[in-house]
Amino acid sequence: MPQSFLRFVDTTPGKRNLKKVPFVELFDGRVQGVASSGSDDSRVYVSWIAGQTGNFSCSTNNNRPCGGLGGSPCKHIQAVLDNAVAQYGVAQVARFLGVDEQAASNAWQVCSNLQGTYVKEPAGQVFARFLDYLRYMELPPSTEPTPELAWFVTGS
Ligand SMILES: [Zn+2]
Repeated sequence: MPQSFLRFVDTTPGKRNLKKVPFVELFDGRVQGVASSGSDDSRVYVSWIAGQTGNFSCSTNNNRPCGGLGGSPCKHIQAVLDNAVAQYGVAQVARFLGVDEQAASNAWQVCSNLQGTYVKEPAGQVFARFLDYLRYMELPPSTEPTPELAWFVTGS
């Protein structure tokens, strides 16, 4: 079976694709993250989709609008959502976005329950969080608590 048919099927937590989506978080009412370009290793897309409104945005880290956005979320937003589900589980992602858990058993269904529109927004804020995240990942290993990492603990 082609892999594209399997993309949204596996909802087991902890199966993120770090190469494709190096950063994903549930933050400020949105599922947001950074997705690699399929064709250009030096380019990444900053993508988010918001709960309640379902509005979404995607652009390169240099604020060039994503060419894959029509009237619906592009493959980068779907990849970010897909990886959020892989990391947090579909129930938590659905709850966070205000989608009925019963109506969403995978990332695609979460997405299709959100009927928003494209919002143009600079990529800087999300991208800065990604860079901070990378910086923390490069901190030397330590047995001491790292206060800067406290916000990153997702818990529950
Ligand atoms: Zn995109």
